[in-house]
Amino acid sequence: MTSFSDIKGQKNAVRFLSNCLLKNRASGSYLFTGPSGTGRALTAKAFITALFCSNNTIASEPCGKCLSCLKTEKRQHPDMFWVTPEKNKNIKVEEVRDICAGFCLKPYESDFNVCVMEEAHMMTREASNAFLKMLEQPPARSLFILITDQKELLLPTIISRCIEVRFSSVSVGDTVDIIRNLAEIEEEEAYFLAHFSQGSPGAALQMINEDVSGRKKKILEMLTRIAEEDNYDCLSWDKEGRDYLTEDLEMLIMFFREIAMARENLENVMFEKSIQDTSMYRFFGKYSIEKIYGIMERLINIKLALSGNINPKLAAQILPGAVRGKS
Ligand SMILES: [Zn+2]
Repeated sequence: MTSFSDIKGQKNAVRFLSNCLLKNRASGSYLFTGPSGTGRALTAKAFITALFCSNNTIASEPCGKCLSCLKTEKRQHPDMFWVTPEKNKNIKVEEVRDICAGFCLKPYESDFNVCVMEEAHMMTREASNAFLKMLEQPPARSLFILITDQKELLLPTIISRCIEVRFSSVSVGDTVDIIRNLAEIEEEEAYFLAHFSQGSPGAALQMINEDVSGRKKKILEMLTRIAEEDNYDCLSWDKEGRDYLTEDLEMLIMFFREIAMARENLENVMFEKSIQDTSMYRFFGKYSIEKIYGIMERLINIKLALSGNINPKLAAQILPGAVRGKS
């Protein structure tokens, strides 16, 4: 069962929402903003579980045992619409119309009709307009929670009708705790993933499934060969797709950022300590700061091009040159 005590690293959001429950001000429209993987959907579920719980004596702590709690946990509560679009798929007007129809009826088992919409910015224009109409004249006792990491893509008229609840990146320490609680991984790997996911436990967990640590190893091996043989030909990407190549680029950028920080005597925390005492680290550490920034700039440009339309094969071909110093 999901409750507020399960949400780590989002004190402000949790405090605010608990207060809404305690003061009986749960209905209305909320906009959960902030990076994905930071607990926005989990928090929405905790909020609704507490709201629906039939044994709820302390407003923000659900019992976890009643039928309402069980149904909400499984996202099967009849008074709750939960929209999760598939990756890169729009939310269509038909889906919003279904929600509108449901909201016109009295709630079946609780006092509220609730709608959670993940990736709310994926609503089509038509869907957004239909949703806006519902927000303008919401049925009594209705609760809307829109979740997005791209608020700027929502209609301003939708944003202005919502109370924004901001979620921030989770601290490295909290991210490590969260992912080690849910997956069996070594502490050092957990630290790397916490940094690399930029404080998104959700993204870090995803990376465990995709064996990002294994690919990091491969990249470090390539960098080590460069350092030991002064030969850049070993940098090669043969069969990588767009997403993999983007992640590998991010790892390379992170590595050179780390070197730059060390050169400028700034605290270097991104890569593990064990790497800082290697031939590769010493080799690249001798680069001038201008050269390191030049490499980073070229890598960032390739990453940007990859998010546009450049062919991944072509990107993979120009990548070694970007590290060597030829663009
Ligand atoms: Zn309950």
